[in-house]
Amino acid sequence: MTVSDPKAKKMLEDLLMISRKNLPSINESLIIKSFEFSIEAHKNDLRASGEPYFIHPYHVALIVAEELPLDDITVASALLHDVAEDTEFSISLLAKEFGSSVAEIVDGVTKISGIFKGQEITKAENYRKLLLSMVKDVRVILVKFADRLHNMRTLDFVNPEKQRRIAQETLEIYAPFAHRFGLGRVKWELEDLSFKYLNRDAFEELVKKVKAKRKERESYIKKFSDPIVQKLDEHNLKYEVSGRPKHLYSIYRKMVRRNKPFEEIYDLFAIRVILDTENTYDCYTTLGIVNQIYLPVPDRFKDYISIPKTNNYQSIHTTVVGPEGRLVEIQIRTKKMHEVAERGVAAHWRYKENKTASEKDLENWVNWIRDIFENASKDEARKDLMESFKLNLYQDEIYVFTPKGDLRRLPVESTPVDFAFEIHSKVGYHCIGAKVNGKIVPLDTVLHSGDQLEIITSKTQHPNKNWIKFVTTHKAKTAIRKWMKKEEDEIVNSGKEIWEKKIKKFKLTFNQQDLDRLATSLKFDSPRHMFRTIAQGKVNVDDILTATKEKEKREKVSVLEFDTFANSARSNAGGVLVEGIDSNILYSYAKCCNPIPGDPIIGYITVGEGVKIHRKTCSNLLRLSEMDTSKLLPVQWPETEGSLFVAGLTVMGEDSPGILNEISHSIVSYQNTNIKSINISTGDSAFEGSVTVYVHDIGHLSKIVERLKKIRGVYSVERFDGS
Ligand code: MN
Repeated sequence: MTVSDPKAKKMLEDLLMISRKNLPSINESLIIKSFEFSIEAHKNDLRASGEPYFIHPYHVALIVAEELPLDDITVASALLHDVAEDTEFSISLLAKEFGSSVAEIVDGVTKISGIFKGQEITKAENYRKLLLSMVKDVRVILVKFADRLHNMRTLDFVNPEKQRRIAQETLEIYAPFAHRFGLGRVKWELEDLSFKYLNRDAFEELVKKVKAKRKERESYIKKFSDPIVQKLDEHNLKYEVSGRPKHLYSIYRKMVRRNKPFEEIYDLFAIRVILDTENTYDCYTTLGIVNQIYLPVPDRFKDYISIPKTNNYQSIHTTVVGPEGRLVEIQIRTKKMHEVAERGVAAHWRYKENKTASEKDLENWVNWIRDIFENASKDEARKDLMESFKLNLYQDEIYVFTPKGDLRRLPVESTPVDFAFEIHSKVGYHCIGAKVNGKIVPLDTVLHSGDQLEIITSKTQHPNKNWIKFVTTHKAKTAIRKWMKKEEDEIVNSGKEIWEKKIKKFKLTFNQQDLDRLATSLKFDSPRHMFRTIAQGKVNVDDILTATKEKEKREKVSVLEFDTFANSARSNAGGVLVEGIDSNILYSYAKCCNPIPGDPIIGYITVGEGVKIHRKTCSNLLRLSEMDTSKLLPVQWPETEGSLFVAGLTVMGEDSPGILNEISHSIVSYQNTNIKSINISTGDSAFEGSVTVYVHDIGHLSKIVERLKKIRGVYSVERFDGS
């Protein structure tokens, strides 16, 4: 088909005529240009029926102009709706040629079509939301409905498998959606067409039965309506009375739901009175007329005029007893109400003064429209509406597909990592890459509604702490933080293991306090930090131990050895005396100065830990007592027999055979000094030993130290109790 084809010329004339009739104003050249562009773009394509492809977009445009009339942009977009998908012309070209609105609508329609390709519908409600989340302009929906309606009308030409799939999709997604938008006529046609392809036997049987009953039905309705019509004429009302066409799918559904045969359902006659008036009051006048003639059935009266349905549907419903005692349902409404019932959103636009309630999901949109109409002049309002028919439904959510076609809902700005954790925490933890619509993408790629995702996992992959910077869902954030904590613990623990192995080898022990002190003195934030650094191989334990020794000038052997020594010395001496009395007072030895028997001591009363025993010279104590001298308590070591006390010495030197013997001999041979314990460890060519001895006084101890220093190979002898 070409533009100059006489047939094409006639088609264009028809479309323009219908548009002129139904639209508030039209830019004819835009429609003509779109028409010609579409013919040209589709010139080499054929439909499944063998017709030129252009027949399809043309009919979609006709449906828009005739049944969902909104504006000329929508008609133009309908003509062009398959151009971007099926031909070599791009959206940006459309934007240049037809403006951004047309391009955006075509883009929206193309994307929606893409989503459903080859997908099996699993959760219909999600799909409806998905659709809404993608649609930023209500006109996209109208074009899509028109597209779907025409495809359904011409579904005969595709194979049965595709027929079934498309009919299912139409019934589950598009029909309820049309209802939500108040598009009553589109809804029932979509339902009937779906019904036809999904259950052809039942459909054809119903068609046959309805046909067989038609004559009887029409004559009954005439008998019923005649007296009403007469009265309406007397009241000078303009009206249209029709036997209400019940659509087939709703009859079928009622039969199934109520488990009743066709005859019983269908014998409920229904007529509709549509008043050509702007005056709502005429509907109630008509109701009065009907009730004068026929007896109303109680409880079957519904006034959707005073209280419209949530999708803005307005009408009076009542049921009366007609001739031969048969029940007849009657709907009474104005022409405008009828229009709204049939054309929904599109009719709202046409009847701008509409001020009825709105369906929850449509609320924002309708309110927004209402706002514009109430607060702006008509021309301005129209312009605004033309420029942006924005929808704000589900805009904070996106819907994406799993490889199996399941839909998952995610917040906007979500990334493949969010999706991975949404699927399962294991998928998240082992996520190494992602494919979006078949292409590998970076993990921080922002996802869009309709994307299909595949997560690539690897057992050896673990979360990266950078993920936390771009993930959006709470689930992903929590999982990544949890993993990072676990990983940190593992590193710290492995560092701790290395450390413990080493100090065990050196027969060293550190309690928590020692560790804290050590970490602080080596400028680590904490022992955890120190272990982590060890695990990462940034520092080795030998260096730490060497550093420790240097720092403490080798004045202590190990903390454990000191502790053992101090404990035995203290228990040997007996408990401290408070003011000369062996009281039951709760006390402990201060770790800061580690007093041992023989040291001048003093107690300091603490809150909760009883009395702490400090050396009198302890700098800590001096600081504390400066603040509050009343907390000081005079204490002393008990007098032991012969006033012996225990002292500890560290001896270091060159390892040689018999060195242990030489050391012990040197001690014992001086005034029969008793050795409490002696412990020598050797490594390489050096030895390090700790010796605890009983001495009478400091003088006694000094002599021992002197003697030990004289032994060949001994480098240093020092008290390890810190005095
Ligand atoms: Mn199409």
